[in-house]
Amino acid sequence: MNYEPVIGLEIHVQLSTRTKMFCGCELSFGEPPNTRTCPVCLGLPGALPVANEEAIRLGLMIGLALECDLAPTSIFHRKNYFYPDLPKGYQISQYDEPLCRGGHLGDVRIHRVHLEEDAAKLVHAGSSGRIHGSEASVVDFNRGGTPLAEIVTEPDVRSAEQASEWLRLLRTTLRRLGVSDVNMEEGSLRCDANISIRPVGSQEFGTKTELKNMNSFRFIQRGIEAEIARQKGIVESGGQVEQETLHFDPATGSITSLRSKEEAHDYRYFPEPDLIPIAITEELLASARAALPELPAARAQRFESELGLSADTAKLLAFRTEYADFYEEALEGNGSEPVPLANWITNELTARLGDEDPQQSKVSPAALAQLVGLVSEKKVTNAGARQVLDKLVADGGDPAAIVEAEGLGALDDTGELDGAIDAALAANPDIAERLRSGDMKPMGVIIGHVMRETKGRADGGEVTRLVRSKLGL
Ligand code: ADP
Ligand code: MG
Ligand code: ZN
Repeated sequence: MNYEPVIGLEIHVQLSTRTKMFCGCELSFGEPPNTRTCPVCLGLPGALPVANEEAIRLGLMIGLALECDLAPTSIFHRKNYFYPDLPKGYQISQYDEPLCRGGHLGDVRIHRVHLEEDAAKLVHAGSSGRIHGSEASVVDFNRGGTPLAEIVTEPDVRSAEQASEWLRLLRTTLRRLGVSDVNMEEGSLRCDANISIRPVGSQEFGTKTELKNMNSFRFIQRGIEAEIARQKGIVESGGQVEQETLHFDPATGSITSLRSKEEAHDYRYFPEPDLIPIAITEELLASARAALPELPAARAQRFESELGLSADTAKLLAFRTEYADFYEEALEGNGSEPVPLANWITNELTARLGDEDPQQSKVSPAALAQLVGLVSEKKVTNAGARQVLDKLVADGGDPAAIVEAEGLGALDDTGELDGAIDAALAANPDIAERLRSGDMKPMGVIIGHVMRETKGRADGGEVTRLVRSKLGL
């Protein structure tokens, strides 16, 4: 039987506020342990929380960007459980009255977005930190109380690849919103994946498992793939998937059980009595709206409809904000044509820069626009322009000057081109014969020969035309 994966994602995003969710402590960026704490985030008795308005505003921006319904009022709940990184014995989160509901990003629907506080950081000190002979763990409360938005999707994702692609889109969107630094290695964007499988064609959902806390797109994709394979193995051998919380180890590719899945009632959720409801004022909403930039999905749409890019090229650019910005700046400069410019960026520039930010590279947007212009005007061939781009990436500079200095200008002197074609035909008499008899397949050999001789300065189309006329075809 064929099985179809069903996947829903839960994403925790650390919000870029100045201070924590419920106290005045500044957010920590690698400060010495326990230097960003106060009675509230240490959970000392009698200390009272106050909700951070800026975190609510950033939460609203996320809700607006994902086209959610924003609740006019929402409330905080206590989620009760014991763990050493949770000093109060509960996490302040939202439960049945979240800040935002519904919405979508691309083809994945959003279930809800709510606000909560992060836990502290537990550091396992290992054998260097023994107490009474046992390995000790220590707690750093600097991160405790950092504002988080949790984004929960509907189970609309159907493959590991779609999950990682969609998460990239979400990350670009959040980065563009400026609500988080979305740094996955540092944990400011963390993802849990809920996974089940069902026979293709079935409308019912299977039992899901939850893969916890994956912190890179590659691990997410591999982890989901491994879990789908594990579930298929169980079902195909007549077993049943058990609902549980799992951990994926990227080093070994193995999946281990963390705990059997807890239910909502295990947490004894109840309304947080120390906080008043969040009431969204017109003023707060207006300021969240005013701060919204054009988002990647809309930008891709605009590149497609207004500039005529293919859907794929538009997405390649728009979903990498730094490339989209580079592109738009290049377009402004010399009014060069949108489509060739986009193709040069997505095909050639990205391949040369890898993960480097184009804005930090030696190639300026204006220089690339100029180079693409030279190609359009046939002053330099595609092959020649690729060599110019190599130089620009290595050393920067002015494309026209590089063409001049390196002698890479397209051959406009027909005498030189004529000579090169004659030489190529003379060097390949058998091929010349086949062409003459009407077999055009080996034309590439002649073009290749001419290209080598002219260091890529000849135009392939022009060479073909001249060969045909010379051979009387
Ligand atoms: P829980 O109560 O276990 O937290 P929720 O209904 O809140 O479950 O859903 C949590 C996440 O799991 C959501 O992202 C949702 O889309 C996803 N999900 C729910 N049911 C399934 C399923 N059968 N298979 C895969 N994902 C699911
Ligand atoms: Mg849940
Ligand atoms: Zn504090």
